[in-house]
Amino acid sequence: MRIVKTIKNLRQVLNEARRKGQKIGFVPTMGYFHEGHLSLMRRAKKECDTSVVSIYVNPRQFDRKEDLTGYPRDIKRDATMIEKENVDILFIPSDNDVYPNCYLTYIDVEKISGMLCGKYRPGHFKGVATVVAKLLNMVRPDVMYLGQKDAQQVVVLKRMLADLNFPVSIRVVPTAREKDGLAMSSRNTRLTAQERLQAPVLHKALKEASLNIRSGERSASKIIGRIKKTITRNSGGKIQYVACVSADTLEVLKVLKGTVLIALSVFFGKTRLIDNVIIPIKKASEVQS
Ligand code: AMP
Repeated sequence: MRIVKTIKNLRQVLNEARRKGQKIGFVPTMGYFHEGHLSLMRRAKKECDTSVVSIYVNPRQFDRKEDLTGYPRDIKRDATMIEKENVDILFIPSDNDVYPNCYLTYIDVEKISGMLCGKYRPGHFKGVATVVAKLLNMVRPDVMYLGQKDAQQVVVLKRMLADLNFPVSIRVVPTAREKDGLAMSSRNTRLTAQERLQAPVLHKALKEASLNIRSGERSASKIIGRIKKTITRNSGGKIQYVACVSADTLEVLKVLKGTVLIALSVFFGKTRLIDNVIIPIKKASEVQS
């Protein structure tokens, strides 16, 4: 694995790969790897000739200062982990390279960036869209790999790629979970022992919602009410939001139809956890009795 720290070096290495006609797969990350990150890298390895992983804790997507300063980092551990996965290139750009002093340009994917998590994290998706656009211009991959865990991020970045004509396709990889169902996240390390025990309730509540929908429930408010009840009855989690939206447009649904994204955000102490499920709604004639 080559560790590359400057854009100039990265371009040299990747120009060589492109000259050989290789397909380049890219996994943008903020590091502190877990199995979820590794599953994206394995997909990139399998489907592409050259795999590039970036680690950059993007200061411009953090709306809370303590979230940025407390974000777990361990580049040495990360490098050792992904070397075993045979990743070809680990790209670790510096703040100066990404945002030089004169920096002025941002990408705002309107409307959908202000929904769900975006409503509570002003500027977050503007930061995400901007840094991903920059990374795509640095790496120029054929395929970018994203996790379903960050469902809104997928929708925002798909829109950005289409609107700005980026010649990149996106592959979405399912959420990797701990044995008890908790979605893997770098932030899980910040949970106390008690919070960690309670946090799987998020997945449990989403699974219950899937079952209710499979049995025919189509009222978004009833589904949301049940999810909230399950979480508050079984944990000390403070719900920020639970929402039923269209998986493609994030349009809020009252009656569930089409492909539904149920997304939620819950605080356990100071740690904000998110999770989601995507449910294709069957027509009435297909519902089990
Ligand atoms: P992050 O380092 O948190 O910015 O995540 C980098 C990429 O890994 C994003 O595309 C995330 O959606 C993805 N990711 C994070 N956690 C998981 C998970 N548990 N399962 C699958 N993908 C994940």
